[in-house]
Amino acid sequence: MIYADNAATTKMSEAAINRMVEVAKENYGNPSSLYVFGQKAKEILEQARADVAGIINAAPREIIFTSGGSEADNQAILSAAEIGKKKGKMHIISSAFEHHAVLHTLEKLKKSGFEITLVDVHEDGIVRPGEVEAAIREDTCLVTIMYANNEIGTIQPIKEIGAVCRKHGVLFHTDAVQAIAHLHIDVEDQNIDMLSASAHKFHGPKGVGFLYVKKGILLTNLIEGGAQERGKRAGTENVPGIAAMATALCDAYKDLDARNASIQKKRDRLIEGLGKIEHSALNGDATCRLPGNVNYCFEGIEGESLLLLLDDKGIAASSGSACTSGSLDPSHVLLAIGRVHDVAHGSLRLSIDESITDEDVEYMITATKDVVEYLRGFSPVWRDLVAGKKQFIL
Ligand SMILES: *Cc1c(COP(=O)(O)O)cnc(C)c1O
Repeated sequence: MIYADNAATTKMSEAAINRMVEVAKENYGNPSSLYVFGQKAKEILEQARADVAGIINAAPREIIFTSGGSEADNQAILSAAEIGKKKGKMHIISSAFEHHAVLHTLEKLKKSGFEITLVDVHEDGIVRPGEVEAAIREDTCLVTIMYANNEIGTIQPIKEIGAVCRKHGVLFHTDAVQAIAHLHIDVEDQNIDMLSASAHKFHGPKGVGFLYVKKGILLTNLIEGGAQERGKRAGTENVPGIAAMATALCDAYKDLDARNASIQKKRDRLIEGLGKIEHSALNGDATCRLPGNVNYCFEGIEGESLLLLLDDKGIAASSGSACTSGSLDPSHVLLAIGRVHDVAHGSLRLSIDESITDEDVEYMITATKDVVEYLRGFSPVWRDLVAGKKQFIL
C-alpha cells in the first residue's frame, strides 16, 4: 500500500506515539492541580509550549493550545472581528481558496454585518501582496491568507503580505496548517500576528493544534469555563496530545532541509511523469509549492473514479479536498485558479512524505497513466473531445 494523502492527515511518528503513551501513563495529573502530580503535568505542558514557540520564533505565552487547525482558524478570525467591530472596522480580506475553516467562519461574519473581500489567487495559485494592499480600506480589521494551500500546495508570499498589513495597521492571520513542519517559519521576521497549526498534518496526533497570537492582541473565547490557556481556551488541556505534538514538530525541524530536498526530487519526478499523460495539466505553480504536493487535472475523466481505481491498485490519494468528497461540486480551490467545472472534476492530488520510495514514485506514475487511459476508454466526454464535438481545454 502506498499512502499519498499526507495533506489530509499523516501517520503518527513512533516518537510521537511513544511520547503520548508515556505522558498518558505517567503524568495523568491535571495541570491545574497544585500537588506534585499536577505540577509535573503542568511542567510538560509548559515545556511543549516553549518548544512549539521556539520553532516559529514566538514567546511561549503567545501560544494557545487548541483542538486543531479548525478551532485555531475560528478563534483567530472571530477574535480579530471582535476587535475590529469595537473600532467600527468591519471589513476583512481573504482569498477564495482558503480552507473551509476560514471560509465558513467568514460567511458567518458576513451574516452579522461584516464585508468580505476575496483577493484573486491567479492561475498559478499565488496571492499578490500588491493586490492585498489595494484591497485594504480604512475599515479593514483583518487580512487572513493561508501560508500554503492544502489542495494545490502553492506557497504564499507571507512575509510581503505581512509587511503590507503592518504598514496599514491591519491584523494579519495565516492558516499555516499545511506549511508548518515543511517550511521555516519566523513570525517576527514574517510580520505574522496570528498563525494556526494542527498536529495531525505533521505526524502528530489528531485533535490537537495551536494558535499563535502576538502579544497584545485580545483573544475572544470560543469555549467558556476554567482559566486554562490564560483564560482564553477553557477545558483541561490534552496533555499527552500536546506533548506528542511538540515531539513531532521538533523532530520535523531536525533534518528539514535534507528531507525536503529528497521529497522534492520525488515530487518533481511525479510532475514530470504525470505530465506525459496527454491533455493533463499541473494545478498551481510548479516550483513555488510544498515539497510533497502534486496536483493534476486530466481532461475527460472523473476524479472520484480515478481515486477508486487507484485504491484498487494500492494507492491512497485524493481528489479535491476530503471535506468536499461525497459532494458533486468540484473543488473550490481549482475553480478559484480558473479551472472550468469539467476539468476541475478530473483532478488528482498526491501528497507524499519521506516514506515514499523511488519505486513507489514510478509505480504511481504507471498506475495513474493506466487508470486515466482506462477511464477515458469509456468516457462519453472523452469521446466527444476526440470526435471534435467538444474543444480540448488542456
Ligand atoms: C487540515 C487543515 C485544517 C483543519 O485542521 P484540523 O486540525 O483538521 O481541524 C485547516 N486548514 C488547512 C489548510 C488544513 O489543511
